[in-house]
Amino acid sequence: MKILVINCGSSSLKYQLFDMDGEQVLAKGLVERIGMDGSRLKAEGKGEKKVYEYEMKDHKAALKYVLDALVDEEVGAISSLNEISAVGHRVVHAGEKYSSSVKVDGEVMKALEECIELAPLHNPPNIVGIRAIEDLMPATPNVAVFDTAFHQTMPKEQYVYALPYEFYEDLKVRRYGFHGTSHKFVSEKAALMLGMDKEDVNIITCHLGNGASLAAVEGGKCVATSMGLTPLEGLVMGTRCGNIDPQIVTFLMAKRGYSIDEMNNIMNKKSGVLGVSGVSSDFRDIEAEASKGNERAQLALDIFHDRVRKTIASYATVLGRVDAIVFTAGLGENSKESREAICKNLEFMGIEIDPEKNNVRGKAAEVSKDSAKVKAFVIPTNEELVIARDTLALVDCG
Ligand code: ADP
Repeated sequence: MKILVINCGSSSLKYQLFDMDGEQVLAKGLVERIGMDGSRLKAEGKGEKKVYEYEMKDHKAALKYVLDALVDEEVGAISSLNEISAVGHRVVHAGEKYSSSVKVDGEVMKALEECIELAPLHNPPNIVGIRAIEDLMPATPNVAVFDTAFHQTMPKEQYVYALPYEFYEDLKVRRYGFHGTSHKFVSEKAALMLGMDKEDVNIITCHLGNGASLAAVEGGKCVATSMGLTPLEGLVMGTRCGNIDPQIVTFLMAKRGYSIDEMNNIMNKKSGVLGVSGVSSDFRDIEAEASKGNERAQLALDIFHDRVRKTIASYATVLGRVDAIVFTAGLGENSKESREAICKNLEFMGIEIDPEKNNVRGKAAEVSKDSAKVKAFVIPTNEELVIARDTLALVDCG
């Protein structure tokens, strides 16, 4: 059975076509600059690559070219779109409505629309992607897989903020958490690498990319996570500030006269390791600058590592017993320096990195000392595969 996975961002779109017999990727690609000058589709399939430079005024136009590329003579992996049994869509926010993936129908679309105010940047392009596929492939079922779903198992003390309770009841202001498909995938893989059932293990997962979040996973269920109502809360990120004293927001608005939009832009786009270092939001650039002696680049890294380390330690108190920690996403999978720096001072809780084993990048590996009580793993995340698996499961069920 062939499943197409689609991830629509505000001006980009990623896709992968899976053959679920063997979970092989048959084709994949990326559309950039949707709705702007210079939009293009980079498609891969049959071992070939091709770049299409077409005007793509919206996501529907982009998806039309993606579907054409899937049946293209050079890079197409299938001869007819009828071979695609279902389409799985990444959807960022499902509010409290869904705790697992769902087959899309009118009620689901209504729920996604209602969540736009909780994820104004993310849900609209996700919804547009589903509608476009409904138009272009009307006979093919769609499945929505939510970033928030995995975190719906958190106990109430982990997701209710200490604000007047009416804000939770009336406005649904609460912690939701994101990167759920990634935390789910790597925690399940870690259980496999430990040779244990996921029901029996406690794992802390560290998704460290441009966006970064941690999750505490007990017996396969998320019990705590660092992102909140929005993906701004928690760790320091590429351009997001993560946790700050909330009063800083009103202080800056009063002092500098910033509007709500300006303040949101500062916290989401101008802060994080970019804001502190003044160098870049890309950890590779910052690590390179820091190694040349740039003090602000080093400070940005030190702050980032400190937050991750403190959050790991605090999640030990949520779990009581930790069997493993997992590093994933761009930085977590690739930066041995960051993994080592984060784990410094965590020996007290049984985490000890082995410098030799830690010299690994982009592949699943154990990186802890043989003597370590808590295993440390690097596990490349694969959110697309989780989406494809969930889609298959729901379509198979009818
Ligand atoms: P997202 O999906 O949130 O955009 P990714 O998971 O792709 O993010 O991670 C991107 C981040 O990973 C970039 O900031 C980049 O600096 C970092 N990264 C990727 N490779 C390396 C590397 N070899 N060393 C350090 N950082 C890396």
